[in-house]
Amino acid sequence: MNDATVLVVALPVPLYQKFDYLATSTKALNHYQVGMRVRVQFGQRKLIGMIVAQKKNSEIPKLKHILEVLDDQPVFDQTLLELLFWAAEYYQQPIGEVVFAALPSVLRKGKYIKPNSNAFYRLTTHQIFDEKLKRAPKQQQIVKLLKANPQGLSSEEIKKSVTSWRSTIKALIDKKLVQKTVQDDPKEDDFLPVEPLQLNSEQQNAYNKLKNQLNIFNCCLLDGVTGSGKTEVYLSLADDVLQNNKQVLFLVPEIGLTPQLVERIERRLGNKVHVLHSGLNDSQRAQAWLAAKTAKAKIIVGTRSAVFLPFSDLGLIVIDEEHDLSFKQQEGFLYNARDIAVYRAKQLSIPVLLGSATPSFETQLNVLRERYQKLILTKRAKQSSTPDVKLIDMRSKSSEEGLSNELIHAIKTEVDNNNQVLLFLNRRGYAPTILCQDCAWVAECSRCDARMTFYKERNILKCHHCLKEETVPLQCPSCNSPNLLWLGEGTQRIENKLQEIFSDTAIIRIDRDSTRKKDALKDKLAEIHQGKYQIIIGTQMLSKGHDFPNVTLVGILNVDHGLFSTDFRATERLAQLLVQVIGRAGRSNKKGKVLLQTYLPEHPLLNCLLSQGYSSFSQQALKIRQECSLPPYTSMLLLRARATQQTMTENFLQKAKSLMTAKSIEGLTIYGPIPAMMGRKAGMYQSQLVVFTSYRKTLQENLKSWTDKITREPLAKRVRWDIEVDPLEMS
Ligand code: ADP
Ligand code: ZN
Ligand code: ZN
Repeated sequence: MNDATVLVVALPVPLYQKFDYLATSTKALNHYQVGMRVRVQFGQRKLIGMIVAQKKNSEIPKLKHILEVLDDQPVFDQTLLELLFWAAEYYQQPIGEVVFAALPSVLRKGKYIKPNSNAFYRLTTHQIFDEKLKRAPKQQQIVKLLKANPQGLSSEEIKKSVTSWRSTIKALIDKKLVQKTVQDDPKEDDFLPVEPLQLNSEQQNAYNKLKNQLNIFNCCLLDGVTGSGKTEVYLSLADDVLQNNKQVLFLVPEIGLTPQLVERIERRLGNKVHVLHSGLNDSQRAQAWLAAKTAKAKIIVGTRSAVFLPFSDLGLIVIDEEHDLSFKQQEGFLYNARDIAVYRAKQLSIPVLLGSATPSFETQLNVLRERYQKLILTKRAKQSSTPDVKLIDMRSKSSEEGLSNELIHAIKTEVDNNNQVLLFLNRRGYAPTILCQDCAWVAECSRCDARMTFYKERNILKCHHCLKEETVPLQCPSCNSPNLLWLGEGTQRIENKLQEIFSDTAIIRIDRDSTRKKDALKDKLAEIHQGKYQIIIGTQMLSKGHDFPNVTLVGILNVDHGLFSTDFRATERLAQLLVQVIGRAGRSNKKGKVLLQTYLPEHPLLNCLLSQGYSSFSQQALKIRQECSLPPYTSMLLLRARATQQTMTENFLQKAKSLMTAKSIEGLTIYGPIPAMMGRKAGMYQSQLVVFTSYRKTLQENLKSWTDKITREPLAKRVRWDIEVDPLEMS
């Protein structure tokens, strides 16, 4: 490629095309390699881009020269670039956005990642006479801090407590009062591995099968009830991979990444875990990225975006709770990290292990079609048995603000026995809305097709979709009646009610409102583990992965609305949620009990799930999907449009539909334009085309030209639109 002079550059702009630029000097052509970052002029702006190809000529006249090359080595290796190109095409996303989503923001900004220096500071002497520093209060402050920490402090820690610490510490170093040392990375010996647990026969069987396939691509579902010891199997396998000096990636759900999990992995594998999740700042993310690339990180535990880390020698990918929705990116570059992980494992000829107690229907069909292997763990690893589940028929029972007497009674028994109780309600706030008792007016958001949630403490109404807040009216805006009623229950209302009934009991609420502050969730979970609270009330944040050994009773307050949803996946989601919540009960040797309140005790889904289990339920539900030609038996795609006027979205989608149907494509059905489930959100109308296809490949082949045609439509510039391939939620 050395005589190529045209560089094809991907830029972080929401446009599907790539951009041609000229190399600055023909002499240095081998300095331009695919995967290097460049700075270019783009219209009025200077942008950072990435070279994605080189060629001799361009059809475009008068090309600009690039301004500079930023790297002397490609940032991504060939395999990772190929993965990103594939993902851009599969998900029909602009290549620049895909490439840049995989870069840490430090690199996106055109800067470089400095390896973490691990520098730390300590006093050279303990006999510092304060007179020496009389007129330097900041220096005094640092000396005091270091006196209290004789083992030394890192710059991060000093930075937290002292402003303009850098110049201050320099002054102290110049006075030879403080010395700077570089700490070595933690060595393996810093983590004393614990003796592995003796695997039971089911675990051993699963492990043996997996162990023999470590050097080939192999996608395997580890289907095991909650607490059956899936994590132990992952860890045994990871141990072997580390022995071969390769890296291991654990992908976990957004809120499944708990300190307990990281600690458990470190103890078991005797190696430091590097983490990547949305709570990290830019420099921490950059360090994780670099650690993966230099293989300093042997074990990475991360949420979805970790699938794009530039591992130098990856040997295994584990996806825990593979059914979890948080593996799907919902904004910008819409990808599914689980599916990308499978592609990546195939590329690298390594195994990928999908673990779940409630496998997604997609994965189950892949097992049925023998694309994926399946290994089963049928019983809990510890002595505990699976909890008993009882339905409480709410139609006949008297109840107080959503809590049946039977449930209140059961809570009392457990509290008296010093056990913990977990109550699940997937609705935050005090009440889902307020209602006028005289004219049936309900408080709705003026910008969304949604009701406003009532927050009692602040006396406001809040829309959970556009975050708009309003004061609560004193009288009905429609008929002026003062008889306004708080309708239904949210977690705050249940918390208040319980505190009233159990006034001496410590109660904690875990939902998005109560865990907004940094580390709040972490701290609260730790307090629950310490046994500080006896009653825990929470939303689905609590349903995942957390192991609360003292919880003996789980109460499920209201899941009936999940049985009415128009999304064809709602029942799958509800079943997964129920099984996961039920799995929180009786995790140790204490027997667990679950009480499920419902107004629909005869509902076939509830009964099938509870009497026959998730596996039978999914077999039946899959049959229905097949009969209706719904995913996973067909592939699905959404073309979504948003605009301030409904007619604009409709016209655009009609046009787009005609562009797709102009040539008939086998096995393709297009529905719409239809309004989105929430027809209006934050003042914008939302509509969509829903495309189903039985021939994925044919669709894929036509998708690019469809997108190209849509992009050229004048209407496409007047609405906001995007394509979502394999959507998991109807929005
Ligand atoms: P899962 O990942 O399937 O939810 P875990 O691996 O977390 O299950 O195991 C659940 C509990 O059982 C943990 O406390 C774990 O330490 C314990 N456990 C797992 N395997 C064994 C085993 N072979 N022997 C004894 N205890 C085990
Ligand atoms: Zn009214
Ligand atoms: Zn709103």
